[in-house]
Amino acid sequence: MLAVDGIPSTEDLQAVLPAESRLRQGPVAVIECFQQIPCNPCAEACPRGAIVMPGSISERPVFDETKCNGCGLCITRCPGLAIFVVDYSFADGEALLKIPYEFAPLPVSGEVVAAIDRAGKVVGAATVQRVQQQANRTTVLWLAVDKAIAMDVRNIRQRKEVAG
Ligand code: SF4
Ligand code: SF4
Repeated sequence: MLAVDGIPSTEDLQAVLPAESRLRQGPVAVIECFQQIPCNPCAEACPRGAIVMPGSISERPVFDETKCNGCGLCITRCPGLAIFVVDYSFADGEALLKIPYEFAPLPVSGEVVAAIDRAGKVVGAATVQRVQQQANRTTVLWLAVDKAIAMDVRNIRQRKEVAG
C-alpha cells in the first residue's frame, strides 16, 4: 500500500498501466507516479507531448498512450525513477523493459541478472540488452524478460549480490 510502504496496490497500478490494445502495438511508457509533488521534467522531456501536467505543477502527470512511441527520454529525466517502458512486441515469449537504474556497479550487455518486483522480491531472470548512458542523466537498462513478469519487474539485482 502506497501510504504505508510505498508499494502501489493493484488498484493504483490499474489506473496507470497501458491498455492491452496499446501494449500489443509496441513500446509504451508506464508512468508510476502516484504522489502529488511539484515536479514536471517528464512533461518537459517528452518530444511528442504525451505527458502533460494538468493545471498546476503539483498535479500528477497525465499520460496519453496514443502519443507515446516508447523512446524512453522521460525515463532519463524523472528524479523519482517512476517511469518505465514496456515493449511486448520485442520477441515471442519475451518483452523488452527499459528501467531507470542508479546503482553501481552497472551490469553489462548480455549479463543475466535477477529480476526484482516493486516489493524487492526476485520474480525471475532478466538478460541485459543494453546499458544506455548519457551525461548527467539517469542510466536506463534495457532488459529482456519473460512476458509473464514484464509488468512486475521494476528493478534488478546482479547475480553475485543475490548469491552473497
Ligand atoms: S517514452 Fe518517449 S514518447 Fe513516450 S512519454 Fe516518454 S518521452 Fe514521451
Ligand atoms: S518527472 Fe517523474 S516524479 Fe516528476 S512528475 Fe514526472 S513521473 Fe512524477
